[in-house]
Amino acid sequence: MDYSLIGKIEKAKRYAEEKERFQFQNFTVKINGTNNPHTIRYKNGKWDCDCDFFRSRGRCSHTMALEMILDGMVEETQTVEN
Ligand SMILES: [Zn+2]
Repeated sequence: MDYSLIGKIEKAKRYAEEKERFQFQNFTVKINGTNNPHTIRYKNGKWDCDCDFFRSRGRCSHTMALEMILDGMVEETQTVEN
């Protein structure tokens, strides 16, 4: 393997252990829910999901599951203001 790439892989491992370096800004995730697929959006620290529960409560099992997966790397419980 290319020596410079080995150095980059070592640096990547250090970065991956320092999650506080990363701030997610925008992403969209599709989840295959138990009954239906849902689309979760995250934008500038705010969550949105297309499920009915999220619309009424501003939080749902889908967004909470992603909060768990991302474990402290994203803001929790905030909703997108339209
Ligand atoms: Zn949802």
